[in-house]
Amino acid sequence: TSFTSPPLDAHLLSNIELARYTTPTPVQKYSIPIVAAGRDLMACAQTGSGKTGGFLFPLFSELFSKGPAPQEEENSSVPPGYGRSRKAYPTVLILAPTRELVSQIYAEGKKFGYRSWVKSCVVYGGADIGSQLRQIERGCDLLVATPGRLVDLIERARISMEQVRYLVLDEADRMLDMGFEPQIRRIVEQEGMPGVNDRTTLMFSATFPRDIQHLARDFLQDYIFLSV
Ligand code: AMP
Repeated sequence: TSFTSPPLDAHLLSNIELARYTTPTPVQKYSIPIVAAGRDLMACAQTGSGKTGGFLFPLFSELFSKGPAPQEEENSSVPPGYGRSRKAYPTVLILAPTRELVSQIYAEGKKFGYRSWVKSCVVYGGADIGSQLRQIERGCDLLVATPGRLVDLIERARISMEQVRYLVLDEADRMLDMGFEPQIRRIVEQEGMPGVNDRTTLMFSATFPRDIQHLARDFLQDYIFLSV
């Protein structure tokens, strides 16, 4: 098996080659056609299974083949440089429980989004918000976030969920263990967030207990269950 079957976008394939990955792991092999078919996914996969590529590969492949979304209307009544903050409209939103994990996902995102129009950002709690605000102002197509910090940015009206087409919940069981369920629900039920019919949702979890089943029931639609 190689990364060309199932097929991936050519630019992504060249970035995968640069990373010296030759063979997809099982979760990667199965997730690519599922996302390409527009289906939601509930994947039970452990750390080390290659689950990060399991969502980044099919998502970058979609982004690259579809191209950038039309530009947002800027606030044209305010001249540039006059302190009106730009709001970010990510197309891909990835939620994960910890600073370490979002940073790892972001680093992989930089690798596979290399030499492309996709601007990736990372935000997490416990760190200065100012530099994170400046980062998202420079453009934010793919956002990797911990739930609490993202709620903060939404409340400050610095990030809009309106353009989200792909929502990923990584290590969902750990996010619930850490008490993030209210923040996750707040984000997914946020005004402007496209509903289940208008987005693709991918959930990854090491385990599939009742509370994760409930999240899957509430956030996913007609999903494919994958256990690797
Ligand atoms: P993850 O389960 O996503 O945390 O990935 C575990 C490790 O496997 C990471 O260090 C990845 O860089 C690496 N990895 C993921 N997919 C592949 C692949 N297809 N070939 C080789 N290494 C991989």
